[in-house]
Amino acid sequence: MASPKTVFIETYGCQMNVSDSELIKAILSKEGYSFVPTEYEADIVMLNTCSVRENANQKVYSRIYEIRSRRKNNPVLVGILGCMATNFKTALLEDAKLKIDFIAGPDSYKQLPHLIQDIGGKGPKPFDVTLSEFETYSDVYPLREGGVNAWVSIMRGCNNFCTFCVVPYTRGRERSRDPHNIVDEIKQIVAQGISQVTLLGQNVNSYRHDDTDFTELMRMVSDVPGVKRIRYTSPHPKDYPRKLLNLMAERHNICKQIHIPLQAGNSRVLDKMNRTYTKEEFLELAEEMKMIMPNISLSTDIIVGFPTETAEEFEETLEVIKKVRFSQAFTFKYSPRKNTLAMKKFADDVPEEEKARRLTALVELQRPISLELNLEQVGHVQTVLIEEEGTKKSEEDFKARNEANTIVILPKGPYTKGDYIQVEITGATSSVLIAKPLYQKTEGVL
Ligand code: SF4
Repeated sequence: MASPKTVFIETYGCQMNVSDSELIKAILSKEGYSFVPTEYEADIVMLNTCSVRENANQKVYSRIYEIRSRRKNNPVLVGILGCMATNFKTALLEDAKLKIDFIAGPDSYKQLPHLIQDIGGKGPKPFDVTLSEFETYSDVYPLREGGVNAWVSIMRGCNNFCTFCVVPYTRGRERSRDPHNIVDEIKQIVAQGISQVTLLGQNVNSYRHDDTDFTELMRMVSDVPGVKRIRYTSPHPKDYPRKLLNLMAERHNICKQIHIPLQAGNSRVLDKMNRTYTKEEFLELAEEMKMIMPNISLSTDIIVGFPTETAEEFEETLEVIKKVRFSQAFTFKYSPRKNTLAMKKFADDVPEEEKARRLTALVELQRPISLELNLEQVGHVQTVLIEEEGTKKSEEDFKARNEANTIVILPKGPYTKGDYIQVEITGATSSVLIAKPLYQKTEGVL
């Protein structure tokens, strides 16, 4: 094969991986690589992987076999990047059936051009999964393509060691980027015509760079001219800064929406998860959020069937859902992840059928709450940002999002992706709002 230069990147898992794939593109494009939309045209396929859930690993294995079979007559190089690379390390390279050509962990993407050059050499297959205490990729501006939102990574790694989570082992210790560098990147994003940014970190409220904490960083980002909507994900309930709530209430360009992971509603289970807050503290925080911003939209993540969780303890999770009334809950059945403390220390003792029962109970409780909250919006005038022309159901509709991050469907009009327009909400399901455009393009945000 001539020097391989075309790359197809497929991204799995969280938004951090989406943002990392943009970094990888920036690093490789400097070295003359170009990017193609499918594996068929590529010299190299890179799978940017996630280890958070078992099915994410399985998906990647099946995908590798699929690519190998599709490219049987025109072999392609395959590399594994991201969390699976660090979690499984050389076991991936040694798996004769997978035939992986190289692997790179989340802190080694600057090494990718060298790793690719070393493919086919005499030594072992190229890999670098070193976790760094310092790498923040501050000097690399991600290569973004299209979209109306820019994901901006403000920190990397995590120091929390929640017992179910693999992130501290696959992404290393917490490091925060220089705030001035983040602001410079956001100015460039605005200059490219993108006016919504989402600040990303495993635990954004732990952000600290010299004297700048997360609230100060949000203030700096909010001051950047042309930034119309700011979101962030995810904060941790244990140290959520109350002063951030006041800043959010003051600033019209910070969306009144918070994704705040609950994980479980019973304090003993939370302790076993090493979440370091109690059910009461979480409820108090949610109350404060609502008191300071009565129109706040809260969403959450919940794990059911964590080791030793009893049916009574799970009932407390349902209680918290009833009290907080999240707009959305992302729900998961616990499954042990390699290298995590929970896997090493606790037996996975909640039977699968019981986990499924709890998951169903949770979804059945949450759905009508989401619907009720959405129905309350009917008749309201809102500003929405048009994200896509055409939806899964109709080419004649726009898919947009309101401040609360709810999807809003409206008929197409004389506007385009990236425009903010005013709409009147006319209907709702538990997951989307339906709207009619008032056809006033707005410069203001919310
Ligand atoms: S805060 Fe907990 S769940 Fe989130 S990334 Fe860190 S260890 Fe994982």
